[in-house]
Amino acid sequence: MKIFKWIGIIILTLIVVGVTAYFAYVRPFMKKMEETTVVQYDKELTLVLGGGGNSGILVSDSLVVVIDTKMHEAADLLFKKVEELAGNKPIIVINTHFHPDHTGGNKFYKGQTIIAGGNYTKEFWIGEADEESLPTQWLKDRMDIKMGDDTITLINIGRNAHTASDVVVYLHKRKMLFGGDVILNKQAPVFMGVADPDGYLYALDMLPKQFDIQKIVPGHGAVGGIEIITNFRQYFVDMNTAANDDSKKDELVTKYKDWVQMPIFMSPGATISAIKKKAQKK
Ligand SMILES: [Zn+2]
Repeated sequence: MKIFKWIGIIILTLIVVGVTAYFAYVRPFMKKMEETTVVQYDKELTLVLGGGGNSGILVSDSLVVVIDTKMHEAADLLFKKVEELAGNKPIIVINTHFHPDHTGGNKFYKGQTIIAGGNYTKEFWIGEADEESLPTQWLKDRMDIKMGDDTITLINIGRNAHTASDVVVYLHKRKMLFGGDVILNKQAPVFMGVADPDGYLYALDMLPKQFDIQKIVPGHGAVGGIEIITNFRQYFVDMNTAANDDSKKDELVTKYKDWVQMPIFMSPGATISAIKKKAQKK
């Protein structure tokens, strides 16, 4: 009988922990993820923040560019805004990567051009996202798109960072970078699939050398300046230190307590585990 009592206690504890974690972390996080804010940045550029990854709509006389298409209702909202702004102009959608919070609305852009990083096969994309969101064009390295008196440059990071094929977009006239999830503002990264902490550091070092960056639209979090890259880079430096020196771990984990995070899945601890796992493989 005693064993049943203990099994009961264990099950009850698991339920309490699960429900607490859901209300403390998962629900507030999902609610925050769904929130959408529209910012008219200037005459041609509209930022639609939240509701999945941050998005931008850039309008010129003859073309409209949409960066990331969000998920759920926010994807609808974004598409309605794009329709309103685009009229009959052709639309180019750019996906920073395949994750559904950035590509959930692709299905609305039938007949338009959809560009994403070219290191995925079609089959991989369909397996990870779905067939409806498939891009029409794969970007291997770099591409310039002329938009009125402005040029925008798309770069494929070229090695595993957040995913196997991360794309960032630079708006030359505004000196503005859309970083996708290679650049997050005060949010811990998720490590899934081939995500590579060294790849993030590579990208965060390379991008400021490639471009004069004054404004950053991160994949998630508020819009800001170059400090977003500086802070996110420092996060990886600190997590590398924490992974290699247990005595510094607590202090360095606490340093990021105000960042958006979820235990195990998306947290300093998860980053440290990813770094250690990679070190074991070497
Ligand atoms: Zn994302």
